[in-house]
Amino acid sequence: MGIESTSGVFNDIEWKQAMLASIVESSEDAIISKTLESIITSWNQSAERLFGYTEEEVLGKHISILLPADRLNEEEVIIKSIIAGDRIDHFQTVRRKKDGSLVDISLTVSPVRNNAGEIIGASKIARDISIQVAMEARLTQANIELQKSNLYKDEFIGLLGHELRTPLTSVKACIQLMREWPERIGELTNKADKQVNRMTNLLVELVDFAKSQAGRLEINTVPTSATEFINNAIETVQQSHPEHAIRYESEHQDLLLNVDALRMEQVVINLLTNAIKYSPGATEVIVRSAREGEVFHVSVQDFGMGIPQAEVENIWNRFYRVKGHRANFKGLGLGLHLCRQLISLHKGRIWVESTEGTGSVFHFTLPIN
Ligand code: ADP
Repeated sequence: MGIESTSGVFNDIEWKQAMLASIVESSEDAIISKTLESIITSWNQSAERLFGYTEEEVLGKHISILLPADRLNEEEVIIKSIIAGDRIDHFQTVRRKKDGSLVDISLTVSPVRNNAGEIIGASKIARDISIQVAMEARLTQANIELQKSNLYKDEFIGLLGHELRTPLTSVKACIQLMREWPERIGELTNKADKQVNRMTNLLVELVDFAKSQAGRLEINTVPTSATEFINNAIETVQQSHPEHAIRYESEHQDLLLNVDALRMEQVVINLLTNAIKYSPGATEVIVRSAREGEVFHVSVQDFGMGIPQAEVENIWNRFYRVKGHRANFKGLGLGLHLCRQLISLHKGRIWVESTEGTGSVFHFTLPIN
């Protein structure tokens, strides 16, 4: 039986061959055939697109031109399977293009038989899977980050519970003592007050953090005296930390900055509190400010434990606390993250120079005008 066409009558075999040739040519996948000696015998258009070689360039060549140096042995394994009559299905591997670059592919190789049923070669279908491989790698990376962040979060919730319970326990103890020794009420009220302030600060930090995560941290800028917010911050911290002398050195005339005064005070308070907290053996903290062209530069220097070089960049990340400090100092690891957000809302820059064992200098700048 034959099939009628405009160019005459096709027999079934011719028709089948023409159909197959058309499918191979129009396939999106690279389709290649080779002998059992791995010599390329056919090469479709997608193979040309994928590997960059034209049909003329590869016909009669050994398939190893597509193999990266570290995968040359793969061909031997493939041919062995083919000779055994086995098919290789969706084997994920890497091949080399004409320009030397590598491409991730999924390979299916099947034996080709002659009329007598003998295996005489192999057909290969190669699909470019570089996009999937890149996506998978990104997904894996995102998953690792997520797990890490989740771990920090779990740790953070534990810390938060602890940080809130400690002052609460103190307040409770103060109330108990007031009952027993009413004559000490003045001293105990002060003590309780301090603990309530500590809790309030923690909660403020937490609320700010939640706002910053939701992108709702806002600043309300008005012309503000630069030295005033620094002095206010120093006064606040000095009152509760008389053991360190906070020295302020500035050589410029006072100037007006367009900032959110309370937020800037909060940044300086944060840096000062850290400077004191992480320098338990020292007695001094120095604040400096200077006008440098169009920027106002503030620094807070301590003579404490400093930060290991490997961890310096991490301290700005939420929840991050330097490994060696976690056990000995209280904190949630949110303060510097918030400072960076606040300074960035003011279009300024914040950074640190630190030497482990010697101390740290935290710097920030704010634009003038
Ligand atoms: P924390 O509440 O833990 O103090 P911060 O965000 O303020 O959180 O700081 C993050 C980490 O950076 C701290 O846990 C501490 O390890 C380190 N750090 C901050 N300031 C200093 C400093 N002045 N000296 C040494 N380490 C510091």
